[in-house]
Amino acid sequence: MSLFAARVSVYSCAEAGPRFGIRRRKGWGMGTVDSKAIANAVRTQRATMDALFEQLRADGLDEPGVSRDPYGPGEQRAHASVTRFAEAMGLEIGHDAGANLYMTLPGRDRGAPVLVIGSHLDSVPHGGNYDGAAGVLAGLAVVGALKALGVMPRCDIVVMGIRAEESVWFQVSYIGSRSSLGTLPDGALDVRRVDTGRTLAEHIAECGGDPAALLERKRHFDPAQIATYLELHIEQAPSLIEAHRSAAVCTGIPGNFRFPDARIEGSHDHVGLPRRFRRDAATAGAAFAMALDELWADYDARGIPMACTLGRFHTDPAAHGLTIVPGAFHFSLDVRAYDPDVLAGLETKVAAIVARIEQERGVQFHLGPTARAAVGPVDPRVKKGLEDAAAAQGIPVLHIGSPASHDGAAFAAEGVPIGMVFVRNANGSHNPHEAMTIDDFLDGTVVMAHWIVQGWT
Ligand SMILES: [Zn+2]
Repeated sequence: MSLFAARVSVYSCAEAGPRFGIRRRKGWGMGTVDSKAIANAVRTQRATMDALFEQLRADGLDEPGVSRDPYGPGEQRAHASVTRFAEAMGLEIGHDAGANLYMTLPGRDRGAPVLVIGSHLDSVPHGGNYDGAAGVLAGLAVVGALKALGVMPRCDIVVMGIRAEESVWFQVSYIGSRSSLGTLPDGALDVRRVDTGRTLAEHIAECGGDPAALLERKRHFDPAQIATYLELHIEQAPSLIEAHRSAAVCTGIPGNFRFPDARIEGSHDHVGLPRRFRRDAATAGAAFAMALDELWADYDARGIPMACTLGRFHTDPAAHGLTIVPGAFHFSLDVRAYDPDVLAGLETKVAAIVARIEQERGVQFHLGPTARAAVGPVDPRVKKGLEDAAAAQGIPVLHIGSPASHDGAAFAAEGVPIGMVFVRNANGSHNPHEAMTIDDFLDGTVVMAHWIVQGWT
């Protein structure tokens, strides 16, 4: 309990403005708080944030790494810890039909469209401690800084602990954020979690949500009531490591199309069968992989950002063997890009590759259901505001497109202006070796806090 006692004492100093050297000149608006005071108000939370990260690590520990399984015990424990922390800060706690967590700092005008600072609290199995959680903690640190500075935002600031962002579990994108917006795709509630075999509806109900309300598309947020959605996330590529920068302002979130359960049907045959008679599903899979790689290289050469990934790629373990021509091949495919037209063009090209390989190799592709997520354009004014905030704080930032999908795209799809800040992180993500430092986390959080103090108070 000492952890939480320490937190309370940190947040009880809302009246401690002078300690941070706040200078507000007579006749000036609320947005004149000194840059140094803003940075100090964030950075003095270092030990508190470190302790909360460690609490989350302990909550999700599943060697190697952490498993915060969505709508399961791992994610539940993270929600409980974050809730206790927010309660100690005096924030208003709320939930919706999708069991998302809302921690609200009231603003001066409680009816005004709100500022949401959100991220997800789930993880991949045996993942790292920072993917997702860093964004929720950044939101809490921003709110903590506002309280310490004694400034009241002009609208409510809602820190959102989002459910089930990692699609490896249910193979559906943005479950939590789309639940809050009433845009969960048809049939999503009947999808089964890959490890438990139970439906999303069952899992949501177990965690206090209301799947019946979600089926009726009841939403927590009217998109018009969200002024901006802001998210901090660890970078999942090494661009910041390479550039020796601590933080970046995001230029866009990719959309994707996905075939979670695709297969190639050929013919299982004797190992001695001459090539001309073969309908080898595995070599068809290999040809498909090489064609996709060539496609990507072509886009790379033309400077058009995209990515394609064959996450699962294998013969059928029940039927394969040393002396058998493989007649079945299974794969998953994720294709992503930052421009809706580029994405649509890629889908047409992938279909053409499939048709060509079918014809050349006498096999049949069964692509199965297609999952889609729209491109998430970043709002230019939010981007500019964050860049200006970084400059005012003397924090040099990169400008990068997100390599990964993020909940912000679900908000952008509903017309909500979004912005994102990335934080340097060694060793990539979706593995136990994520290595964000608390210093870099605080840099990214200072950028967000500066922009919010200057523009939203
Ligand atoms: Zn994430």
